[in-house]
Amino acid sequence: MKPSYIKAFEKGVLVKRIERAKRWLEKCSLCPRMCKVDRTKGEKGLCLIGAEAVVASYGPHFGEELPLVGRNGSGTIFFSGCNLMCSFCQNYDISHYSSGFKVSPVQLAEIMIELQKNGCHNINFVTPSHVIPQILEGLFYAIEKGLNIPLVYNSSGYDRVSSLKLLDGIVDIYMPDFKFWNKESSERWCKAPDYPDRVREALKEMYRQVGDLVIKNGIALKGLLVRHLVMPNCLDETRDILRFIASEISPHTYVNIMDQYRPCGEAYTDSLIDRRITQKEFLTALSYAKEIGLTRLDERRSYFVWSL
Ligand code: SF4
Repeated sequence: MKPSYIKAFEKGVLVKRIERAKRWLEKCSLCPRMCKVDRTKGEKGLCLIGAEAVVASYGPHFGEELPLVGRNGSGTIFFSGCNLMCSFCQNYDISHYSSGFKVSPVQLAEIMIELQKNGCHNINFVTPSHVIPQILEGLFYAIEKGLNIPLVYNSSGYDRVSSLKLLDGIVDIYMPDFKFWNKESSERWCKAPDYPDRVREALKEMYRQVGDLVIKNGIALKGLLVRHLVMPNCLDETRDILRFIASEISPHTYVNIMDQYRPCGEAYTDSLIDRRITQKEFLTALSYAKEIGLTRLDERRSYFVWSL
């Protein structure tokens, strides 16, 4: 299956999207934070990134979901800065302090090509919501240099539908998180009470664009894959999130229910989330998925399942 961005490039759609996306940086409204700063002049909003994307690291990654990793790994590019800024972030230095190196569109393209040459099965943009224009511009040069593997948009789910429309026919695989169901939780941990509404809208738009995950010979080619990190003391939210995915997106959604929460960043100061989850919490989350009818769960065996 040819990645969809090749057609968008050939038909001139990609160039138009780049122009439109870059204009949005002048009064930045790329994400629901709507900071309205002029990033083209180096001003920075909540995500801490100006005109140029900043890359924290890149390389073949083997810790992602099985259909992304295959034999040779997922070609991850970790962007610095973030538009959600969770207080418990496991990559706190990257997201909250934007550590990394600035990249021009051509340099970003060279990174993509290097990952492809290393045999990676896809280009996996990690935390991309605040650098969509920079990604699109880098993609243009990467296609000219021969890029032809699927693109993965790996976000927190805190995306605007209008920004996602810039990626329609360009991104092959969407991999959003769905973190919180309640606005009280997203206010408490991200200062984003609108997160639940935005992520519900975003998932619907992502699914409209790419549908259920298509896997061939064990490798994901196109579609939606949703991640949910089980948090301590939040199982009610887990159940509501899984129910939403099954009933309002698709019961065939590929879902990764993750057990690796550990307190990081400011989480040690919050008594609700200052511990890892228990085995009982994780197994309850899995049982909810089963009851609700979600059957395409990521097959990597959790520590909690192994230790039964
Ligand atoms: S992308 Fe950054 S600057 Fe733009 S609205 Fe979002 S947080 Fe603000």
